[in-house]
Amino acid sequence: MSLIDVKSFAAGQWIIPDANAREIANAVTGAPLARAGNSALDCGAMLEYARNVGGPALRALSFHDRARMLKALAIELGKHKDALYDISFATGATQSDHMIDIDGGIGTMFVFASKGRRELPDAQVYLDGEVEQLSRNGTFLGQHICTPLRGVAVHINAFNFPVWGMLEKLAPTLLAGVPAIVKPATATCYVTERAVRIMLDSGILPAGALQLVSGGLGDMLDRLTHQDVVSFTGSASTALQLRSAPHILENSIRFVAEQDSLNASILGPDATPGTPEFDLFVKEVQREMTTKAGQKCTAIRRIIVPEAQTDAVIDALSARLSKTVIGDPRVEGVRMGALVSQAQRHDVLATAAEISREAERVFGNPDDFALTGADHETGAFVPPMLFHCQNPDTASIVHSKEAFGPVSTIMGYRDIDHAVTLANRGEGSLVASVITQDGDVARQVVAGAGAYHGRLYFNNRTSMKESTGHGSPLPHMVHGGPGRAGGGEEMGGVRGVMHYMQRTAVQGSPDILSAIGPRWVPGAAEITEHAHPFTRDFNALEIGETLYTEPREITLDDIETFANFTGDRFYAHMDAEAAKRNPFFPDRVAHGYLLISFAAGMFVEPNEGPVLANTGLDKLRFMKPVEAGDSIRVRLTVKQKTPRNDEYGEVRWHVTLSNQNAELVAEYELLTMNAYAKPA
Ligand code: NDP
Repeated sequence: MSLIDVKSFAAGQWIIPDANAREIANAVTGAPLARAGNSALDCGAMLEYARNVGGPALRALSFHDRARMLKALAIELGKHKDALYDISFATGATQSDHMIDIDGGIGTMFVFASKGRRELPDAQVYLDGEVEQLSRNGTFLGQHICTPLRGVAVHINAFNFPVWGMLEKLAPTLLAGVPAIVKPATATCYVTERAVRIMLDSGILPAGALQLVSGGLGDMLDRLTHQDVVSFTGSASTALQLRSAPHILENSIRFVAEQDSLNASILGPDATPGTPEFDLFVKEVQREMTTKAGQKCTAIRRIIVPEAQTDAVIDALSARLSKTVIGDPRVEGVRMGALVSQAQRHDVLATAAEISREAERVFGNPDDFALTGADHETGAFVPPMLFHCQNPDTASIVHSKEAFGPVSTIMGYRDIDHAVTLANRGEGSLVASVITQDGDVARQVVAGAGAYHGRLYFNNRTSMKESTGHGSPLPHMVHGGPGRAGGGEEMGGVRGVMHYMQRTAVQGSPDILSAIGPRWVPGAAEITEHAHPFTRDFNALEIGETLYTEPREITLDDIETFANFTGDRFYAHMDAEAAKRNPFFPDRVAHGYLLISFAAGMFVEPNEGPVLANTGLDKLRFMKPVEAGDSIRVRLTVKQKTPRNDEYGEVRWHVTLSNQNAELVAEYELLTMNAYAKPA
């Protein structure tokens, strides 16, 4: 059978492998499958193409445009899922592994698309946090902003998730407005190439936004500048080699690393045999050991249980693991496939042999295990292997050597402090889980182990049905960890987008900051010459457009009527003597809700018009009490506009209420949905 030629996509061209290409074997059969790599790949041209063609095209789009693009790409990939599943079996993965890789990757893209629309502005600049008051009179302010890097993101990915591994990095990169060059691990690059081809063929992406290197990366990294980012997933040794290259260090090139991790799962002291938590623990550990044949960066490598429960966990886990049907992942009933390659199998067995110097193997024999529909000699198969370490305090290999396969070590703890100490012996992990019902245990683990872990996952009978699993990094939550795990951070919603942007502290006058936003800042120019803003459609409204109402006096009768009508007869509104005893009030005062109700009555334009709905109110503050006899006046200013769909957009209004002495009594942001201009 002829080999699949895995191409690269460089500067707009598909490049076939050359004579120096690396050969890739089928993980299940060992047969030659594909080849990848071209030593003549022009890395300089690829970088220039990304920087000069892809970057400008992406930066011209708003966050919302890019979010729509991600959604379209996710839909397109979804249409071709079956082809991706089909080609992925050769990596040794089962259908449920494909769901994690392919569906998980597509799902991640959808989440970024939706977060991009909901949490980022329809603009090119992201405003990070609120305006900082840097001067007494408010004429000089500060605002942190983020703008896309002007370079390219080079993504170097691991072999284990050829689709998810690419998409979890690509989605935030494209959303940021930065072009990407993806370099998948050679062992599984034929799957990534197919996914890249689906995206490029769709025509959704602007030219230069996405390129692919199948095979070696050549001298790419030596050509990067401080405007570029390297995002790496793989082994600690490769990460160290790449990130410590003088060119990377000299140019302060961002290097995000996600590498080895000795993740732990702790069985809570309350989770004794017979509880739902005990069963849940055993199930989660078994799943993490066998999914992707243990080739998961978040897999459980260390099982930390109360000393008294060690035997019970070994027994229960062994019973579950013994049901794992291992073999050709295409065969019905097979639950665990092959490792990615013979080289990986060799590595896993060598590390397992090292672990056995400190721990006794209590389940799984690599020299004797049943295989379904596959051959021991040619396929890269190993069984799940469970070790028991009697002396975890004196051991070191079990805490420092990751066997990147279905290998895990159980160890006993004396108390929660000891469990935390053992978990932290991993010296930085992506995730630790704790199965417990006990809030005190959870608090102790967070205090003691939080700094050593990128994610802490608690599970018990309440959350188990809906929980997403110890091993699932979610696009909403950060993925990464300190120390051995690489010190990097990915995803985490909008946080992940910021890895591809520069945060800049901008200082200036209110008008300057309003123009940059674009978001109106108090103190900036107010536009007052137009008709009532409620009569103007979304498109016509300008940032800074302002309405001042006439004053309205608040009477004692108003306060009493409101109290009787709403039932809010709180003493500060109804009892003068009691109100005076309260340090906040001089006398009976108007209800805050009365004030904002009156405010609405003062600023609304009642006739049917472009304002469709009031969808909320943010940041409401009452600053000064209003007594009977005071009068209030309202200022309503267009702060920000965000298109929401084809018919309407959201208008964020800055609203202030002031009294007859021009003192601020209340402030808030009002959200309305406003219709676009009707086509003529
Ligand atoms: P590697 O570190 O060897 O490779 C990771 C990526 O780096 C691959 O894309 C690889 O490409 C690339 N790479 C390797 N050398 C260079 C180089 N000199 N310049 C540019 N790119 C380079 O890891 P593997 O994928 O082989 O996995 C090995 C081990 O890494 C596993 O056994 C496991 O311990 C760990 N690992 C950890 C993961 C995690 O998420 N924590 C995930 C995957 C692996 P190529 O394939 O072409 O060599």
